[in-house]
Amino acid sequence: MFSRFLKGALALAATAVAVAACAPSEVEVPDEDAPDVAEALTPGSVAAMITSPQCSTRVVRGLTEQLVAELACIKPGALTSIEGMSGIELDEDAFPYLQTPAAKALANAQRELGSPIKVNSALRTIPQQFLLYRWYKNGRCGISLAAKVGESNHEEGLAVDLDSHGTSVRRAMSRRSYAWLGASDPVHFDYNGSDGVAIQGASVRAFKRLWNRNHPEKPLTVNDTYDAKTESYLRESPAAGFPIGARCD
Ligand SMILES: [Zn+2]
Repeated sequence: MFSRFLKGALALAATAVAVAACAPSEVEVPDEDAPDVAEALTPGSVAAMITSPQCSTRVVRGLTEQLVAELACIKPGALTSIEGMSGIELDEDAFPYLQTPAAKALANAQRELGSPIKVNSALRTIPQQFLLYRWYKNGRCGISLAAKVGESNHEEGLAVDLDSHGTSVRRAMSRRSYAWLGASDPVHFDYNGSDGVAIQGASVRAFKRLWNRNHPEKPLTVNDTYDAKTESYLRESPAAGFPIGARCD
C-alpha cells in the first residue's frame, strides 16, 4: 500500500528545528524494536546519528543527496527541486524536492496567493524518515509522532509542511489539489493530483543499488521491499554518503 492513500495522517514536530514528522495515526503503536543504546555503532553511520545532538535530518544530507540522484536514474524527471523557485522559501532543514506535478502545483498556489510560502518539510528520503522515527521512539528532539519508513507521505514527494497555513493559504493550496490535513497536523498538505506517482518503492531500490555498488561483498536483492535486512544495512550506511555515489549506467 502506498502511503499517499493512507488516511487520517497525523504528525508533529513541535520543535525549533521544524522537522514535522507527519505520520498516519494508526502507526502510533509502541513496537518491539531493540533499544538503540545497545547497538554497536559505526562512527559516522546513520545509526550513530540516532543519538546525534543535532536534531536535524541534515545529518544525513550527503546520503540523501546520493539517494535522490540514484532515484533520478530509476525514475527520470519524477522529482523537481523547489530551491530557488520564485516565492518559495525553505526552512534550513527542508530537503528541497517534490514530485514534479506537486512542485508545479505549489508554484501555482504561491502565485495565486501573491505572498511567499515557506516550506518546512518536503521530500524525505529513507534515512531521514528512519531518523525521525527513531527520535520519536526514543523520546528525542520533541517529536511526538512519526511514521515508520514507508508510511509517510513525505517519502512520496507528495506532501509539504508549510510554516504558515491560514485560511488564504489553505484556499490557494486546495485549488491546486493540495488537501490540508486539518487541526491534528496543521502544517501538513497532501498533493492529491492524479498525476502523482508512487516512488517510495523506487527509493528503496535506489538505496539497494547504492549499497551494492559500495558493498559487493554483501549485496542486497534489488527490489522495492524495505525489510529488516535493508534497515540493518541502512543503519550501517555512512550519513555523509557512500564513497561511490549515484550512477545511471
Ligand atoms: Zn507533513
